[in-house]
Amino acid sequence: MAVSFNIFRPRYINPILLAVLRPLSKVAAILVGRGFRKWWQSLPAKKRELFIQHLLRNKYKYLGGSALLGTASYTYYEDHVVPTPLTGRRRFMVFTSDQLHTVSRHTYAEEISQYAHLLMPENHPMVSVVKRVGNRLLQANKNIPQLYTKYWTVTLIDDPTVNCFVLPSGDIVMFRGMMDLLENDDQVAAVVAHEMSHAVLEHASEQLSRGYLLDVLILLPLAVIWAFIPSDGLALVTQWFLNQVVKVLLHLPYSRSLEEEADSVGLQLAAKACFDVREASAFWGKMSVLDKIREKSGGSPPEDAAWLSTHPSNIERQEKIDAQMEEAISIRNFCQCPQLEERDPRQMVKILQKQLTITSSSS
Ligand SMILES: [Zn+2]
Repeated sequence: MAVSFNIFRPRYINPILLAVLRPLSKVAAILVGRGFRKWWQSLPAKKRELFIQHLLRNKYKYLGGSALLGTASYTYYEDHVVPTPLTGRRRFMVFTSDQLHTVSRHTYAEEISQYAHLLMPENHPMVSVVKRVGNRLLQANKNIPQLYTKYWTVTLIDDPTVNCFVLPSGDIVMFRGMMDLLENDDQVAAVVAHEMSHAVLEHASEQLSRGYLLDVLILLPLAVIWAFIPSDGLALVTQWFLNQVVKVLLHLPYSRSLEEEADSVGLQLAAKACFDVREASAFWGKMSVLDKIREKSGGSPPEDAAWLSTHPSNIERQEKIDAQMEEAISIRNFCQCPQLEERDPRQMVKILQKQLTITSSSS
């Protein structure tokens, strides 16, 4: 719980500048590609022949230039591959969370202004719960620099949306809809620790960096599409198709892998703070039973469940968390936390299903 500090790293890019450059570079690639096509189409056959001959004569020059550019780009990429705090996973980063701090504070102010009339007062019991849990997590994990160097804030919004998110600056925003689903401090800890992990692991900077990299990589195919596909309409359809492929093959599995990483680190943070880590599993179990009830009644997931839609399926999460439970409990034991009471998992499921039947029939 200290004021965030800045690390001077001159090789990182300014995120605001990038926000302007990203769409501009795409437009430029489209214009260059389309311009080439129009120019080629208007060229007489003789001049086309001359152009091809020029290319063939200078092919080594062009190939050499491309190879040089390729090597320089690869060196730049390699230079920006750094290990993730805590997990050591190597990833491409062009800016740091510190750089995102200002942007993030601005985003926070914007988000909060939408809900200005719904902010829960400081003395609201829900605010106290999240603060209490958050402080316990921070105290127990103060050996993690990325955690204690942030100035954490907690904001509760009196809205039924099932959501909770954190900004790179350390601002945690929790909605009443999510709080209503959490039965005890241990479950609140599971959600808050997950969100804190996103901030500690600098997932926002990583996602932006990766988006930037993919944007650069897509510039060439984009220019090629607009240069070689004979009509604007077809080029537009192809571009849309390319975007969908990138989304399904690259963005979705990747964002899910970040969620799993945050779940895993979150479980460790909660274990170190002596929370009952089994409640994380119980919470996801409950969420997946809720999914089934919703499916049975022919309903689709609520549209406002933003926190859930970008995440892996609830049952999958529970399974992954269960697989790490033994390790989490051994962290608790290592930290000399009070022993957990024995529980019969089958009994738990029965209680849970009964509770949910009551909840769903009464709502
Ligand atoms: Zn998440």
